[in-house]
Amino acid sequence: MTLHIQTPLFESRPLSLAAGRAVWLKLDALQPCGSFKLRGVGHACEVHHSRGARHFVSSSGGNAGLAVAYAGRQLGVPVTVVVPETTTARAKQLLRLEGAEVVVHGSSWQEANQLALTLVGAEDAFIHPFDDPLLWAGHASLIDEVAASACKPDAVVLSVGGGGLLSGVVEGLKRNGWSDVPVLAVETEGAASLHAAMQAGHTVEIERLASVATSLGAKRVAEQAMRCVESHPVYSHRVSDKAALLACKRFLDDHRVLVEPACGAALALAADAQALADYRNVLVVVCGGATATLEQIDTWLATAQ
Ligand SMILES: *Cc1c(COP(=O)(O)O)cnc(C)c1O
Repeated sequence: MTLHIQTPLFESRPLSLAAGRAVWLKLDALQPCGSFKLRGVGHACEVHHSRGARHFVSSSGGNAGLAVAYAGRQLGVPVTVVVPETTTARAKQLLRLEGAEVVVHGSSWQEANQLALTLVGAEDAFIHPFDDPLLWAGHASLIDEVAASACKPDAVVLSVGGGGLLSGVVEGLKRNGWSDVPVLAVETEGAASLHAAMQAGHTVEIERLASVATSLGAKRVAEQAMRCVESHPVYSHRVSDKAALLACKRFLDDHRVLVEPACGAALALAADAQALADYRNVLVVVCGGATATLEQIDTWLATAQ
């Protein structure tokens, strides 16, 4: 038994028609806590639990925190999530629904994270949102499921925040003998820390984050993301916030599932025939995200560029 579930894999007729090629969806939006994060976070929590951890600590008010809260509740381990004052009421409510203790501290994630680290006792485990080999090993299960279905894609499209999903998918491609399958790594323009790192040839801290795709908001990607780029074909793509938001709306119409703009970024590329010109069978990781409402997406769209 794992904490995450096996998710559906099917060809999207509307996206295939839009892109002029077969577009397959791996629907991780259907994980019980709403995003792919449960794969890696669930695995990390299980490993720490088996080593005797008595308490999990997270500093993510987003999908990583939700996944820790869900995993802790399933394993019977108490969870504390420290979030900054900027965290929405909805995010805090979702965390509390999963039974986590929510501590509000500081005006930025950095400050919340600092407090979170001081709360990690000798018998506790801190669960990072993207930079931990246990996470990547767990995320790699997504590709194991695709490989088990015997459907080999020509390319994988996914969103990049801190690069945990990218690292896990590349690990999954390698361990299934699919080292020749390129990854199209999509970010929004205001959160393009992988793009900046690939330009520089090393990880860099981008000055400021300016995107509605808050789940892609890591100023610097994990070093492992650079190792992936160096050892595997990875191509960086950027889309506008507006394109990501419109892709969310369209996905809701097409497949009746609401995802965050973080996921909309990958979906926007999945409808772009030009970006996909070299590929006949494209797999899109529908990473999901539980923190946006339709109302919020419409509000963002009214001013998005
Ligand atoms: C965390 C997250 C991402 C980005 O994942 P990284 O591992 O940080 O690159 C993308 N989409 C959603 C919905 C997320 O929750």
